[in-house]
Amino acid sequence: MYNLQKLISTLAKLAPHSDAMEWDNVGLQVGNYKSEIKRVMVTLDINEKVLKEAIQADIDLIISHHPLIFNGLNNIHTQTAKGRIIIKAIKNNIAIYSTHTNMDMAKGGLNDLLAEKLNITNTEILSLQKETKLYKLAVYVPIKYSEEIKKTLFKKGAGHIGDYSNTSFSIQGEGTFLPGENTDPYTGKKGNLEKVKEVKIETVVFENKIDNVIKAMLKVHPYEEVAYDLYRLPQQSKYRGMGRIGFLQRKINLEKYCEKIKDILDIKKLKVRGNMDDEIQKVALCSGAGADYISLSKAKGADLYITGDVKYHEAQLAEELDLNLIDAGHFETEIIFKDLAFEYLQKAKNKDRLEIEIIKSKIKTNPWSYY
Ligand SMILES: [Zn+2]
Repeated sequence: MYNLQKLISTLAKLAPHSDAMEWDNVGLQVGNYKSEIKRVMVTLDINEKVLKEAIQADIDLIISHHPLIFNGLNNIHTQTAKGRIIIKAIKNNIAIYSTHTNMDMAKGGLNDLLAEKLNITNTEILSLQKETKLYKLAVYVPIKYSEEIKKTLFKKGAGHIGDYSNTSFSIQGEGTFLPGENTDPYTGKKGNLEKVKEVKIETVVFENKIDNVIKAMLKVHPYEEVAYDLYRLPQQSKYRGMGRIGFLQRKINLEKYCEKIKDILDIKKLKVRGNMDDEIQKVALCSGAGADYISLSKAKGADLYITGDVKYHEAQLAEELDLNLIDAGHFETEIIFKDLAFEYLQKAKNKDRLEIEIIKSKIKTNPWSYY
């Protein structure tokens, strides 16, 4: 058994709720944060069949990618599928949690996994959505504590620059202090001017991590009064965004790459706009419905853009731009969410010895079939 609130915190480490798009609705949708969870089911969508499957499998928590409650609700009654799902979920003590655009954008989230599966490496964010204010933290530490302090700062999320983590700069020097009447100094005596060999550690911190980083730093720092500087940097840090753009190891023609995509994502048919003989190396992608980024993919020099849910006129835009475009399907580019959530929770379960069982829904929620 594991507390729902704690389980949610575990999931939010990968995909914080605050990273979701403003129009999105993520987090706990049905349930009680204090409940105890034994059995978890992961699914792309929640429909009545999925809920039935969850009831039969004695599930306590359903984790879906697409939010059950999205546009708000005016009523909850049995005349609508949504109403029936909510009522039945409550009756059967099943909590429902969704992790949507926050999971699309997460580092190691859905788009990163899709890129990895399609052999696209050296990826960057395709459409930057969130930047964060950046701060510089400089702290003065006795030499023997410097490694421990650095470890703590990095553990709490300081030191990220682009794809690099644990970045810092240290320099040794001499610190001085004169302990006052009411002090209890770590070293030296009241009223005596002390000289101590110290290290100045500098690192960067995202605005949303500052509180946790400072709190943890003060806890491990040996000084009664810790000397540190925190100042705002003028540059923003690229933080989260939709889609990815990267490179295939070797050039491959579009026709051959289409075969590979079908194989990897288990797709019978792909909708393609483009020239099958074109050599492809730089590839942009966005899981789900990403037609908004057609022009951006072209502007960023992609040889090919892969997404789902492309409308007729959006495909015409790709044609005008002479951009190769694949509509691989909304469902087909996002069904890997089940693997992602399953693997992540399984790892957390093994690492922290959580007494929970995780299963993947077996219901095919794609309304489309191909003939
Ligand atoms: Zn979607």
